[in-house]
Order: sequence, then structure tokens, then C-alpha cells
Amino acid sequence: MKKTILLIFLLLFPAQLLALDFSFHKKSGERAGPTLLVIGGIDGDEPGGFHAAAMLVTRYRIQRGTLWIVPNLNFPSIIKRVRGDMNLKFEHISRADSQFQQITRIKQIITEPEVDLVLNLHDGSGFYHPTRINRQRNPSRWGQSCVIDQNKIPGSRFGNLQKLAETSIQQINAQALSRDHRFQLKNVVTRTVGKDIPARKSLSFFAVRNNKPAMAVEASKTHPVHIRTYYHLLALEAFMQQLGISFSRDFDLTADSVKRAIKDDARITFADGRIQLELNNLRPTINNFPLPRNTTLHFAAQNPLITVLPYDRRFRIHYGNNRLAFLNPQYLEYDQSLNDIHMLIDGKQQQIDFGSIIPVDDNFLIQGKKGYRVNVIGYTRPGYRSDSDMKIAEGQLNKKYSIDTAGKLFRVEVYREDKFSGMVLVDFRKPKEKPEALVAQTTPAEKRSPRKQGAASGAPTQFRSGG
Ligand SMILES: [Zn+2]
Repeated sequence: MKKTILLIFLLLFPAQLLALDFSFHKKSGERAGPTLLVIGGIDGDEPGGFHAAAMLVTRYRIQRGTLWIVPNLNFPSIIKRVRGDMNLKFEHISRADSQFQQITRIKQIITEPEVDLVLNLHDGSGFYHPTRINRQRNPSRWGQSCVIDQNKIPGSRFGNLQKLAETSIQQINAQALSRDHRFQLKNVVTRTVGKDIPARKSLSFFAVRNNKPAMAVEASKTHPVHIRTYYHLLALEAFMQQLGISFSRDFDLTADSVKRAIKDDARITFADGRIQLELNNLRPTINNFPLPRNTTLHFAAQNPLITVLPYDRRFRIHYGNNRLAFLNPQYLEYDQSLNDIHMLIDGKQQQIDFGSIIPVDDNFLIQGKKGYRVNVIGYTRPGYRSDSDMKIAEGQLNKKYSIDTAGKLFRVEVYREDKFSGMVLVDFRKPKEKPEALVAQTTPAEKRSPRKQGAASGAPTQFRSGG
């Protein structure tokens, strides 16, 4: 039985997945101050923590002090949507272990002298409570808690872990969405309990053994992902304030804004920005996707949880635990001679850069340019080589060819002879029709079980394309 499961596993996941390394981001303010190291994604099926860490990368600016962020420590497990067993490898790890390189690197980052505090972000089961209230709320649960291994790290500037956690918890609870969501302090007194408990093997306890203040923050898995992320961000801000790290962000810290931000981050560009895709509600497969022939596949995404992986002859886009569209490539030469097109959007003249996503209320027209051909995917115009200089309304487009499941986002592609010049997306969604937030589909807490899997070895996330 086990053999069968393993075989399916290997067929489903590409070899390159094993080479997915974590990313490491540094953000410093103009004024010097303490350094906080934030780690997300040590467990691959805990998206609240890794989305919060990723939002520090995409949405926060630091004015004083420094943030170091590793948002996707166990990236292969994030892609596979499994917990993984990385957090059990910080006491002993064999050189032969596939995660040896990642763990060695993160240990080195943790023990850098300038790191003042390490926060390891988790989504935990139920609600921790020091006394038993019910099955979901009791001492063996983890959700909505700050977890310390011991009260103090003597001789460390921020070594009073208990006080640090208690002050943050007070601040988090002042903004809790319900009384039931209030955080608690959980001290697992790691040094004094049995030798075999998992806490001894954890990242936090590795830090503590090296006299580095560290703790885990656990949001409850009973919450939807954006609510977990909201609590992680409340916690992170409370700790930053205590360390004297000052920051600003480009959204209000409310549950709705966090949901919106996770969704707004869902974008990727290809080919130096000549193509941009919004990743919310993508169709499962996008055919004839123009990719440059005979070169490495280049993509860029601001959010470090977004990546593209090869699966046989296709590519698949991933955003955290979300497995998004397969791209069936059409390999083409790229034309560099044009960077924008001229359009009439609802009758109004506009110059549109390639890679744009353009809102349209009713109709659009692409103005023809000598030597270039326009292909509006989903529009048929018998007898013409180009779809330019033609007013096209939403109703004239075949919804089957939209890139989104709602039939609202269409590709406008420009070619010079057979070379691809660039793409624009026309977006017929009304503001109120904007798709539901893209939140991770994650394994329910009850179904997760520690599982062994291969993992990263440190190659870049770029792949040579065929063609
Ligand atoms: Zn965890």
C-alpha cells in the first residue's frame, strides 16, 4: 500500500520541486534599531503564518530597525500542501537529509549576532487554554497562543520572553474579533520535560539553546486563512512595537483588508512584464500561452509565495497552498520593437503598456499599427488577419476563451509577423463582481499527519523551457 502512495506522489510532483529554496528578505529603516527575524512556512499546511510573513515583504515599510523575513521556509511542503517534518530536525539532522542545506542556512541566519528576536509563525489546532474548557479549548491545543520554551534567556536584551509575550498578547486581545479569539501564553518548559518531546527538536528551541530569544506564534486553524493572517499580523506588529521597530503599511489592519491584500497580491508577470496575469479565479488550464523560445522561463511576482513549476511539457502557477492554472506553452520568438498599444476604451483614447490589465465597461477597440497584427483571443472575425480597428463588445467574445472562470478577462495579443510583441488583458468585471478572495485551500487540522517527503536543495526557481 505504501509503495503505491509513494509512486503516485512522485508522478504528481516534478523533480524540480525538490530544489525549491526559501527566500530571504531584509528590510531596514533609515534609523538603526533592533532586528526581528520572522519565519513563515516551516509547516507547509499553515497558510495563516506564511501569508502574514509574505505580507511583511509586500506591504510593509520599515522606518526604524530591521525586519528579516523568511516567508516560505519549507517551500516544497507549501506547494504540496502538507505539514512536512522540518520542525523536528533542529536537534539532529543527517548530512544525507534532503533538508540539510536549508536547515543549515536558516540556523546560520537565526544565530547571526544582530538578530534580537525570532518569531516562528504557525497555524495551530483549536484554542490553547491553560485549563480544560472543552475538546477544542484545552491545554493540549495550540491555536491563538504565543509559545515559549522557557520564561527567560538570561543576558539577552529581549530575553524576558514571558513579559514580551504577555505584553504582545494584551495588545492582540485588545483587537480580537471575538472574546473567544483571545490569545494565551503557552510555556512548554522544554528544558525540564521529557527528552523526546517534539519541542526539543524545534526551530524555536534551537534558537533558545543558542541564547537567542525566540518564540512561536500560533493562529487557530479553525479560522479562515485571512483571519489567521490577521491575527499573525496583530502579533507581529505588537512585537515590532516592543522592539522599537517602527513601520508603515499600505492597508488598514482589518480582517477585510487582509483578505483583499492576499487577493491583490495574486499577480505574476512573464517575459520582462510583456505579460501579466491576475491569478484570482483562473481557469484550470490556459492554452497557447506565448512563452519565449529557447530560453529560461522568467517570471516575476512580488509575493514570495508565488512560483511557477514545470510539469512535463506544461507549467503550473502556485500561490502558497493554492495550485492554480496549468500553462500550455506556445513557444515563440519575441519581438522587442513595441512596448504599448493605442486603444479606445469605451470610446476613450488610451495608451496601454503591454502587461496591463485594463478595466472595460462596454467595449474596446485596438488601433492598428502598420506591421503588427492583433489577436483578441475569443473573438472571431472571418476574413481578417488582424482584430484591430474593430469595436469589440463583451457579448462578441466567446467566454470559453477567457482566462478566468467567470468569462470576464480576455487576452489581447500583438504580433509582428510570427513574433510575439506583448499582451494586454481586458477586464469586463464590474467592481461588485470582483471575484471572491483567493484564499488557500488547506488541509483541515483533523486530516493532517506528519509525513515524510523530499525537500529542497537550493537551486534557483527558473527552468529551461523547450520549444
Ligand atoms: Zn506548525
